[in-house]
Amino acid sequence: MNQSCDARGTAGMPGASDFKVKDLVYVPCEGKEVPFLAGLVQQIEGSEAVIQVADEQLRFPLGELRRRFKRDDGATCDDNTSLVHLNDATILENLKARHEADDIYTYTASVLLAVNPYKDVNGLYGESQCKRYRGKHIGALPPHPYAIADTAYRALVRDRKNQGFIISGESGAGKTETAKIVMEYLGYVSGSTNQKTEQIQRRVQQAQPILESFGNAVTMRNNNSSRFGKYNRVFFDETGTLVDASVTTYLLESSRVVVHAKRERTYHCFYEMLRGLPDEKLSKLQLQRDKLYLLLGSEPTDSQDDPVQEMQWHAQFKERDAKLFQHLCSALSTVGFSDEEIDSIFQVLAGLVHLGDLSNAEKDEGDEAATVQLDDQILDKASQLLGMDAAELGAALRRRKVRIQHAGRESLHEVPRTTSQFRHALHSLIKALYKRLFERLVQRINSSFGEWRQAPEEDDQWHQIGILDIYGFERLQRNSFEQLCINLANERLQQYFVENVLVAEQELYKREALPWVGLPLPDSTPVVTAIVQTFKTLDEYSQQLAKGFEKTSDESFCQKTVEDSQKDTQRKEVLRPLKMSNKRGSKAGMGLAMNEGFVVKHYAGLVEYNTKGWLDKNNDRLLVECEELICDSNLPFVASLGESDGGKVPFRSISKKYCADLENLLETLNTCHLHYIRCFKPNECQKPAIFHETLVMDQLVQCGTIELVKIMHDGYPNRCPFNEIVKRFRDLLPESFQRYGMRTFIEALMLAYDVPKEEWALGMSRLFLKAGQLKALEDMRTEG
Ligand code: ATP
Ligand code: MG
Repeated sequence: MNQSCDARGTAGMPGASDFKVKDLVYVPCEGKEVPFLAGLVQQIEGSEAVIQVADEQLRFPLGELRRRFKRDDGATCDDNTSLVHLNDATILENLKARHEADDIYTYTASVLLAVNPYKDVNGLYGESQCKRYRGKHIGALPPHPYAIADTAYRALVRDRKNQGFIISGESGAGKTETAKIVMEYLGYVSGSTNQKTEQIQRRVQQAQPILESFGNAVTMRNNNSSRFGKYNRVFFDETGTLVDASVTTYLLESSRVVVHAKRERTYHCFYEMLRGLPDEKLSKLQLQRDKLYLLLGSEPTDSQDDPVQEMQWHAQFKERDAKLFQHLCSALSTVGFSDEEIDSIFQVLAGLVHLGDLSNAEKDEGDEAATVQLDDQILDKASQLLGMDAAELGAALRRRKVRIQHAGRESLHEVPRTTSQFRHALHSLIKALYKRLFERLVQRINSSFGEWRQAPEEDDQWHQIGILDIYGFERLQRNSFEQLCINLANERLQQYFVENVLVAEQELYKREALPWVGLPLPDSTPVVTAIVQTFKTLDEYSQQLAKGFEKTSDESFCQKTVEDSQKDTQRKEVLRPLKMSNKRGSKAGMGLAMNEGFVVKHYAGLVEYNTKGWLDKNNDRLLVECEELICDSNLPFVASLGESDGGKVPFRSISKKYCADLENLLETLNTCHLHYIRCFKPNECQKPAIFHETLVMDQLVQCGTIELVKIMHDGYPNRCPFNEIVKRFRDLLPESFQRYGMRTFIEALMLAYDVPKEEWALGMSRLFLKAGQLKALEDMRTEG
């Protein structure tokens, strides 16, 4: 079972033959507004049942029915594993009812599910809540990230083991907010014992708004969407005192600096700067506060959009931008940036804004010798702010250097760029400068954490808690190189989740010698191999292109990838041509020809990728002419963003670096005890009180919760060490029973309280209970 589509269909209804007339059930309704409808079994005929659904009688295979239970008190469950019937439909029902009641957090065994409320839920966070959760066992209080953070912190101090949080979910599901909530708790619990820890704590906190200003943007799906992955780490010494921190970022979407869709924006920092800088600073940077510069507005192709409407749309963020500008500046100085450094950062941003305004320049394409016509005023502003010579900047953008071999001798010539080559050069320069600025900020933030570090290396006695806030699985209308990178990370993390949570679950049963039939688990190896191989081919082709091979193109890369995959029995299952029947040149799916893309079968479904531009996207090297401009800048800050060896090697692989970073991350996670938080987006309109069932159901499947639950359902979601059971329930039996040893005590307990035989099992060291039984015992104890 490799596919989630199956995951939903066979959502784990063992004992289907046990259905009786009058049973309450849910039936699936594919393609409707809601994924399930409530019904009542009317009749059973062989392997099918007739179900009364509203005023209709419908026929379903027994295997598709889910059990339903109607609680008369209407109460919901804190932990899905204590639902009377555990299946996809009841989980969805539980989450929905809880969302309605502002109970946005729910456990599923050790995994915390969080449904974005899209509003401030009163009294949910803050110091008084932190205090409440401190030192409490999971389950003692309502589910909360604080509870998991507390468990992790205590485990770190007690067991001296690294801890990791994997926070996942779609764009807008609440990952970044949840990560901040976890960090807030860690800050609280590790206390401000001295000036140093207080300082680190403040810097860790203040690093977040900086990263958000420079790495987040308004998108259609989230007004504060992180366009990079992030792994925050906090280090503690043996006493549990905060001693250091670090942040690692992954794959910033640098294309957003130069293009973004309509009703989206580029990075927040540009708008914040324009909104917040005082007049005299703005005029020094030659900027006008209310001008919608080309980089800041929609791409030129959208110019038919009414400019007044566009301005109005942008205006809604004014207040926010002004406020966040203040936060940004104070965060930058808390983290240790000097006023001069802060000025240089804005100066570079302003330089980029002016550079961006050259985007529309054109040339007379009929005239081979002509160069692109640049607006000298804009060119002057940009070059001045970036410390470049205007003539050199203009020359680098207008002409390219070509090496020509003739009669055994090489000579260098300058050839005018076409308009599209010019735009490509300009955009590459802007993207590279922005990306390097972002990386520099991250570097500076990291060095500011370690200002007090005595030894350059971490101390052996130190342990860390890491918090991963990484883009969830993406299936957009148009999927490109970035989506393949993102989805590779998700495949790897999903595999981790499966191995860690699900395999561990099965192994536990095995170890404890429980009667248990293993479920086939999904295996992401073929798809991971296929993607890694795709990146290898991409590297080969990108390299060839960078060396100037004329025949290398995105199309030839795509064709080779698909052909190679078809030759491999495993890979051809997961990476396929756009449409088998399509001849080259004819259009398929996204309107692509056969050699313009391929389809990958991910754990979360099929995704069609468009390979246009990949050879270039995969190359981290800037054009030599542009690299020289940066290195030669007379502003030390800008020059320091240059790569002095830039001209020598024309290709550096982005995918290779990304895969290496990913492997590093996974290695780190391997040293950690992992905690999972799955975030859910309840609706597409970013509004409170709307719960779109189908949307949430899709996410439940995509994040592996349904798979987890399937195993749980068949197995025993509650398990407790013998001694804990004896301790907890000792009062339920006469004292004399304790003499006979723990096993006997527990057996007697089960008999005395009528726990049905099939609902419990004794392992080697633990008592295993099916869903709900532990709760029943607890109720007896509290009643008794
Ligand atoms: P992306 O992948 O696009 O970065 P994300 O999963 O990080 O998305 P967030 O930016 O964390 O999503 O959340 C989106 C918005 O949802 C927030 O700006 C906030 O308005 C709201 N939100 C998220 N979590 C909460 C919460 N716990 N309480 C209140 N509002 C929340
Ligand atoms: Mg985010």
